[in-house]
Amino acid sequence: MNRRNLHGLPVKAPRLPAFCALEQTATIAETLRNMFRIGMDLGGTKIEGIVLDAQGKELFRKRIATEREHGYRHILNRVKGLYGELAAHIKNAPHTFGIGAPGVVSPRTGLMKNSNTVCMIGQPVKADLENLLGRKIEIQNDANCFAMAEALLGAGRGKKLVFGVIMGTGCGGGIVHNGEVLVGPQGIAGEWGHMSIDPNGPKCYCGQLGCVETFISGGGLEARYAEQFGIKKPLREIEQEFYAGEPDAVAFMKIFFRHFGRAIANLIDILDPDIVVLGGGVSKFDALYTDGIAEVAKFVFSDSLETPIVKHQIGDSAGVIGAALIGV
Ligand SMILES: [Zn+2]
Repeated sequence: MNRRNLHGLPVKAPRLPAFCALEQTATIAETLRNMFRIGMDLGGTKIEGIVLDAQGKELFRKRIATEREHGYRHILNRVKGLYGELAAHIKNAPHTFGIGAPGVVSPRTGLMKNSNTVCMIGQPVKADLENLLGRKIEIQNDANCFAMAEALLGAGRGKKLVFGVIMGTGCGGGIVHNGEVLVGPQGIAGEWGHMSIDPNGPKCYCGQLGCVETFISGGGLEARYAEQFGIKKPLREIEQEFYAGEPDAVAFMKIFFRHFGRAIANLIDILDPDIVVLGGGVSKFDALYTDGIAEVAKFVFSDSLETPIVKHQIGDSAGVIGAALIGV
């Protein structure tokens, strides 16, 4: 098949894995029958690698320290070392390789941006790794990898358009359509966490005021609680107080559900996805799936809300599994 990947490079391996529930041709299934997938989650403190077989089953996994204090070149060599071990595990049989990392490789410049591993910002990470490894690779941000894992193997399996939402320390998101991640010319498709929903809201690290992230991420919620009540509390504790009917926590969460409703309804209005899958620490808060969804229904531009909004199924491994799935 004459396909190109999201950076315009020719792709030999088809993007739809054999285990994908979407329609596929016999040719794709045939090509992937012997295709292993290697994925790597490149974090600030650890690098996790995984090998999947063509059915998406995990064969091998290993974690090493990133050792970012030794700088950019050292990190690349850490990736190379781990990649060698993973490939050796399948005796270097043909495989795809994808990396998930915080941050975005700019489709325009090829340089890494928005990364929390500061020494990687402004570096041509993809090109450098391709030179070092002597092969093509794909790099996507970790929210896109989460969305891919959930779309193909998790809660969004069999759905055409999946919006994966991460509500963790910050808010990220990824869009998967027909088994492929939508990236966009600036590499920011799905970055719903930095839509402003209140021009008079709190200042976000990105420079804007009232971003979704400042209201409904774990970090944002804890900061807003501390501002409002003058006391710092972990989100879990505020949740317990909410369930116990403590009035401050109930009032606080009411505002949270309102912001959640507004933010999710905005993205449903634009994309009308087949499903929204929630991940990250905040997604464990069960009231989101009742009170939170009721607020979404109030704001969405439709007489009824039909979009399923569900908890993730793959959980903590979604980043590394998604990295394996986006590989080329
Ligand atoms: Zn922001």
